[in-house]
Amino acid sequence: MRKVLNFINGEYCEGVDGEWMDSINPATEEKIADVVNSNEKDVLKAIEAAKNAQANWASQSPERRAKVLRKMAELIKARLDELALIESQDNGKPLSVAKTVDIPRAAINLQFFADAIGQWSQEAYHMKGAVNYTRRQPLGVVSCISPWNLPLYLFTWKIAPALATGNAVIGKPSEVTPITASLLGEVANEAGLPKGVLNILHGQGARMGKELVENKSIKAVSFTGSTATGRIISQQAAPLFKKVSLEMGGKNATIIFEDCDYDKALAGVLRAGFSNQGQICLCGSRILVHESLYERLKTDLVEKVSSLRVGNPLDELTQQGALVSKAHFEKVMGCIELAKREGGKILCGGEREGSKGYFVKPTLIEGLPMNCQTNQQEIFGPVATIQSFSTEEEAIDLANSTDYGLAFSLWSENSSRTHRVSERLDAGIIWVNTWMLRDLRTPFGGMKDSGVGREGGTEALRFFTEPKNICISY
Ligand code: NAD
Repeated sequence: MRKVLNFINGEYCEGVDGEWMDSINPATEEKIADVVNSNEKDVLKAIEAAKNAQANWASQSPERRAKVLRKMAELIKARLDELALIESQDNGKPLSVAKTVDIPRAAINLQFFADAIGQWSQEAYHMKGAVNYTRRQPLGVVSCISPWNLPLYLFTWKIAPALATGNAVIGKPSEVTPITASLLGEVANEAGLPKGVLNILHGQGARMGKELVENKSIKAVSFTGSTATGRIISQQAAPLFKKVSLEMGGKNATIIFEDCDYDKALAGVLRAGFSNQGQICLCGSRILVHESLYERLKTDLVEKVSSLRVGNPLDELTQQGALVSKAHFEKVMGCIELAKREGGKILCGGEREGSKGYFVKPTLIEGLPMNCQTNQQEIFGPVATIQSFSTEEEAIDLANSTDYGLAFSLWSENSSRTHRVSERLDAGIIWVNTWMLRDLRTPFGGMKDSGVGREGGTEALRFFTEPKNICISY
């Protein structure tokens, strides 16, 4: 049985109190690893190592730090098959997705921030007889806390800019999918990352969270996960005046106008709704369609959704794998039951697939008002609702009518409309005639209950640094 150990000061170790938890393959319901279940003592140990390592790492040139990150990216690419298989087994996602999306993107994240740090310049302001320039210095030791839906992908998305800017990191991957992140320790050592600069702790967030956030030596917390956890972190960090970046839940709308390119929109709605079993914060789980297209799109979508291949994630033809865990499977099934009680009509899916593994048939529901719980709360599974609108104004109102504001997509060939509507949608990311097309230089994140701050490009480099203005009179 694989043992998933903490990685502290460049070495793998058991938890201080020797506690363990199981990691389960959600497609087979079999145990695949024993995972350290850390507590605050492990956090303190990791913080000590990070503190000892940080100043030296920060003093190295950006080129030197970039070289190490590039090497880490190369090593991840070299281990693509191994990492993709583990990601699929740990998370339940199709192996093909882990191989083409998750693991390549983990390498790209490190490569991207290695490049970015070499190109980053800071502001200078000239006055009469004086010049100001801004130094952006690393914060020190930072916590990076990530979720289970895109395990290595989102973990590296945080630690890459933190390391590039000269911080030491306490990384906390999700306890639900810890394995690929734990292997990053090997990658870091082989790439020559100095000991203690990256520390990776496993275990339940609630046990370690307080120390990860409140410890005096932690200068910032970069978190991706649920809005409920983000709220706890926010409450802990606020009185301590800590920097926080919170990437949280979404209840995104996909808006299809009557002047869309129909085939393109149909393919887009399907991708947005059901990629990664609907377990992407950016997934479009509320499909809003102009009334003139409603019946046509509904019929076509039901056909496409029902023919998605659900099953063994290791099978190359599988399009929908298992949900990540028993608890999450039960939550999603509960949401489907709630939708029925709220008066929703299940157009397809709505039930478990098979009897082993946490598979759910992709589900489309109609007949629900926007203010019901199904349309207001994040489900984070292969479940989408479909609803019609008659005017642009109504589409905007419906889209904006939840507490979330992460990522919307809209489909229209009328360019004036796309600008006009984008301006009025309350979300941090708007995709027009596309979905999840990513340029890593752009600000990434949400507004309202979906997020505080932005990741990506210079936003991330700024987050992980403290600006200091130096004014020189001459
Ligand atoms: P979660 O909030 O349960 O856990 C996320 C991480 O926080 C895990 O590592 C967990 O161990 C840790 N954690 C839990 N309690 C903690 C505490 N009290 N203090 C500190 N850390 C704690 O979220 P999840 O179920 O792993 O992920 C799914 C959620 O993540 C969904 O809501 C999804 O929308 C969101 N998400 C958001 C984005 C984004 O970019 N906005 C991206 C992916 C996922």
